Amino acid sequence: MVKIIRKVGVIVLLVILILSIQEIVSSFSPKIIGSMAATDVPNAVTIDGSDELAEHNYCDAEQLDEEQPNVEQANTEQSKEDLSQEEKQEEQTEVILPETPQEEQQEESKAKVAYLTFDDGPTAYTGPILDILAEYGAKATFFMLEPQMEGNYEVLQRMINEGHALGLHGVTHDRKQFYQSAERVLGEMNMAQAKLAELTGYKSFLIRTPYGSKPHMKPDYMEAVEMNGYKIWDWNVDSRDWLYRDERMVDETINQISTLEQYDIQPVILFHDRKDTVDYLPQVLEYLLSNGFSLKTLALELKPVLLK
Ligand SMILES: [Zn+2]
Repeated sequence: MVKIIRKVGVIVLLVILILSIQEIVSSFSPKIIGSMAATDVPNAVTIDGSDELAEHNYCDAEQLDEEQPNVEQANTEQSKEDLSQEEKQEEQTEVILPETPQEEQQEESKAKVAYLTFDDGPTAYTGPILDILAEYGAKATFFMLEPQMEGNYEVLQRMINEGHALGLHGVTHDRKQFYQSAERVLGEMNMAQAKLAELTGYKSFLIRTPYGSKPHMKPDYMEAVEMNGYKIWDWNVDSRDWLYRDERMVDETINQISTLEQYDIQPVILFHDRKDTVDYLPQVLEYLLSNGFSLKTLALELKPVLLK
């Protein structure tokens, strides 16, 4: 009897044990499935049964929840980046702010500008030319010969004081001598530069070679002057003041200027420091100013006009 009771007791205990194990197993099973679903996300989608799907969705949600802060963080960082980009853009805009001057420059380039140039001086007529330029509020560029500079300190100083540009025209003005070699061209310009600097303290790099660069300036001559920082300028309007010596000079100059104007080309006008030029310069200036030109000096930063 006792044995039977013991056996029954053992069986009951076993049953209780089995039931409790089942309970334990059943209580853990969803988590196991959940972890499986989490690790096998692509397969989880194909699992039948709402529970597994729910687990799968939950896992996704969990992942989303976990990712959410990251996404937000990323968004925040993104927006920070956006902000910083905007800031950069603003900074760039601020940096580029000199656009206003650029626009002004564009407007300036659209504005009509003429460049008066006077060669072979200074002479006795340079003073009167400066008087006329002052009267009309015009600026000009003087390409000067080294021997002419000596003894004309006052007129050189006046050019500087009154805002004109001082350029170099060499020493000999002799076609054969000047264009002998690259060294000769460079040597004459260096001498003229040194003399001007000695007299005024101003070191000029604007040059015009006698009779113009074409056809005399060979490629190695051009290279020599450019290598030494000189900017060589010819002209695109020849007043022929040396030839006409009368009012034809005015007509000739105006005809050439109006032709260039049709092609939107700014005139660089060749004159000389001569008596006839003093006489007829006012008529040319009247024409230029009444046609909306402003009269400025040549400068190193401008693109030089060269004979073709
Ligand atoms: Zn000359």
